[in-house]
Amino acid sequence: MAVKRDYYEVLGVARQASPEELKRAFRKIAMDSHPDRNPDDAAAAVRFKEASEAYAVLSDPDRRRSYDLFGHSAVGAGGPAVDFSDMPFADIFDTFFGGGFGARGRRERSNRGDDLRYDLTITFEESFTGVEKQIDVPRMATCDHCSGSGAEPGSGQETCPGCGGSGQIRRAAQSFFGQVVTTATCPTCGGAGRILKNPCSICRGQGRVQKTRRLSVKIPAGVDMGSQIRISGEGEAGVRGGPAGDLYVVLRVKPHAQLARHEQDIVFELRVNMVQAALGDRIEIPTIEGPVEIAIPAGTQHGQSFRMQGRGMPDVRGGRRGDQYVVVQVVVPKDLNPEQKALLRKVGGLTGKPEKVSKGFFDKLRDAISLD
Ligand SMILES: [Zn+2]
Ligand SMILES: [Zn+2]
Repeated sequence: MAVKRDYYEVLGVARQASPEELKRAFRKIAMDSHPDRNPDDAAAAVRFKEASEAYAVLSDPDRRRSYDLFGHSAVGAGGPAVDFSDMPFADIFDTFFGGGFGARGRRERSNRGDDLRYDLTITFEESFTGVEKQIDVPRMATCDHCSGSGAEPGSGQETCPGCGGSGQIRRAAQSFFGQVVTTATCPTCGGAGRILKNPCSICRGQGRVQKTRRLSVKIPAGVDMGSQIRISGEGEAGVRGGPAGDLYVVLRVKPHAQLARHEQDIVFELRVNMVQAALGDRIEIPTIEGPVEIAIPAGTQHGQSFRMQGRGMPDVRGGRRGDQYVVVQVVVPKDLNPEQKALLRKVGGLTGKPEKVSKGFFDKLRDAISLD
């Protein structure tokens, strides 16, 4: 058997440490090393077990005295070593340090309804204009029959005899820790403080039922992929009159066939042929508000972009609109027939002085190699 470490050393306190100091030291170790907080950490589990055993002995004045006089052997004779490594973290704190850490938090959490997520797909255009949508949300809703109380109408509730209405019970117990006051959720009423004389026949006392509810969601202009809209109190109903959770509507924006969004800006990729790029052209392009004719200047290069100010997406918080960028892609024709090739060779010979070429010639060329 391995040699046991000194209990004071385990807790990191002096031999004359006060009960308060012992408690603080153990609390700190428990915070750091409890298995609930360190799953899969075997070393932490050992540390926690060792510290809880040390604290169990030293916090009991009689056992501490024996330990001080005779060491581990004396304590071992007094009963088996304490093992509460299976005890959940919150219960440890309820038990050893009084309520407040676990029981109360658990009670509030268990009564409040869960938050819900609803994924909603809208079109690119709708993300631009904003839209109001009807959605059907399946969720736990307050039971109409009992108005959420869980009691059959007319039957009422009575104060829980187990806890006197507080929902918690305090027990003073003699243990290896000496006098320990524990606070726990009342088992009679499950923490509600009231018990039902006659549970509701529809919801069986839960105060809520599964129901689909139609909600209207206002989606502001400018929302983007992944934007969330929180609708307070439209999540799951609380248990027996507890507060409802929230509903999070998470938006998915369908991609547009031609326009792409980049933050507040919209990007349109404009494919032109080499003649259009060389000579310039007036071209109708799509914008989020419909087609607009733009002029691309002569000598436009592949990859060049033009900014259309204020043609982008609105700011969701009501700021100014982004811009639209027209990014030019010059498409070079492939698979030319011999006649087209001959024409291009002529154009090649004229490069550098396009102004001397008649418009008619280029119109013909455009037709010859047009991509449309
Ligand atoms: Zn009770
Ligand atoms: Zn009901």
